[in-house]
Amino acid sequence: MTTLSVAVVGSGPAGLYTAEALIKQGAALEVPCRVSVDVIDRLPTPYGLVRYGVAPDHPSIKSIAEYLRGVLEHDDVRFVGGVRLGGEVTREDLLGSYDAVVYATGAMRDRRMGIDGENLPGSCAATDFVNWYCGHPDSDPGSFSLDAESVAVVGVGNVAVDVARVLIRDPDELRSTDVPQPVLETLMASKVREVHVIGRRGSAQAKFTTKELRELGELAGVDIVVGAGEADPDAFDATGRSSALAGSDRRVRGNLAVISDWAARVPAGHPRRLVLRFWLRPVRVEGTGHVTGLTVERTRIDENGALTGTGELETIPAQMVLRSVGYQSVPLPGVPFDERSHTVPNDGGRVLGPDGAPLPREYVAGWLKRGPTGVIGTNKSDAAQTVRALLEDLCPGGARGGDPVRPGAMEALLAARAVAPVSYADWLRVERAEAELAAALGRGARVKLPSRAEIDARCRGGR
Ligand code: NAP
Repeated sequence: MTTLSVAVVGSGPAGLYTAEALIKQGAALEVPCRVSVDVIDRLPTPYGLVRYGVAPDHPSIKSIAEYLRGVLEHDDVRFVGGVRLGGEVTREDLLGSYDAVVYATGAMRDRRMGIDGENLPGSCAATDFVNWYCGHPDSDPGSFSLDAESVAVVGVGNVAVDVARVLIRDPDELRSTDVPQPVLETLMASKVREVHVIGRRGSAQAKFTTKELRELGELAGVDIVVGAGEADPDAFDATGRSSALAGSDRRVRGNLAVISDWAARVPAGHPRRLVLRFWLRPVRVEGTGHVTGLTVERTRIDENGALTGTGELETIPAQMVLRSVGYQSVPLPGVPFDERSHTVPNDGGRVLGPDGAPLPREYVAGWLKRGPTGVIGTNKSDAAQTVRALLEDLCPGGARGGDPVRPGAMEALLAARAVAPVSYADWLRVERAEAELAAALGRGARVKLPSRAEIDARCRGGR
């Protein structure tokens, strides 16, 4: 049997599905290859987006972490937390210590709207709000106060649906989830009574999935309102082709059915309202010193099929604006990066150099490879493709290039730099602390520790 050592950078779904595929595909080769995988993460906690992106009230998606736990607990997989590429280690260190490196760091940065007022206090990225309610170690539990009565959410993808739902739902329903206690307390004291979710195109072009959309209409104590005339997918489409999208796309068909049902509803007079708007693009965040509203322009699809502004403006009163207009990957130091697509240039997962030729022993998986699309499960087939390329190149007996790697090279390198990585056993102490905290608070199975300092203390064995 041949052996291979691989560093996977990123312990989110893309990284862990990659680790799993390396073990399984390696073992299934005609000449089996035993792959030992170090899963390196800048955070002391594993699971990436599953832990810090999936909304707390979506426990079935969060349970993917249970599946991924099995990957991390495999004998040939090791968690190396608290080690950042570009910080504690460099690309060259990784290439010098492993036979191959797979970059799977996802897409952590928010996209911007590029409009005036976007930087006003009260105007934030949905990613920051998600990080806050998910208890991300980079996020301060005090960074949101929820004093706004009305919130405008720009974008009609699943992240917009998540943030709107967390903002408007009865916070008591989040008590049994893992949201950090200070976050729950802020949500309990929230003044938010109205959330406007705003799409720059129509209901047929919206990106959300039907299951996620439908949930918004099932929230207790919330009236769902669809903007007048805006539920009709063709109302602002001169080509009249928007409704036809439903013919070929089940998701669109489902979304349109849900939205037209809501448009026919008579509001019950609930204390909280969720307003769904379409054909409005953001023009300006209003306010001096703090957000007071969002000015939007009516859009339409013209006779040539192009989205254009009509010049008709409307200001939606709001004291908080959340832009939920997509994620972007960030470049990794020394690793090729396409600034237009915000991905690492690759061919089926093989990282391509400036001349378009594959760079030996470097691979990419997940959102960093293909952009922020698809559901978590999409990363499984994506990772499998990358691993097929890697094993084809390197196992068995492929030309590895570079100096032969020494077993234990990364441990030695970190020790020489006085870096003590977070191990899987360290992480399990954090998990136990989360379960204890939940029990002490009388809340669900786990409650996330509220700060990086507390996570670090538990990792190091403190209480
Ligand atoms: P997304 O699905 O790409 O949606 C982004 C939205 O922002 C679109 O409606 C887009 O409109 C709009 N937008 C972009 N630029 C804009 C601008 N300048 N002004 C106004 N609107 C703008 O992205 P996402 O919601 O961040 O989701 C990312 C991925 O995670 C998706 O694959 C999503 O399905 C997944 N996700 C899944 C779940 C789940 O399964 N429960 C939960 C969260 C996220 P246009 O279409 O007009 O560009």
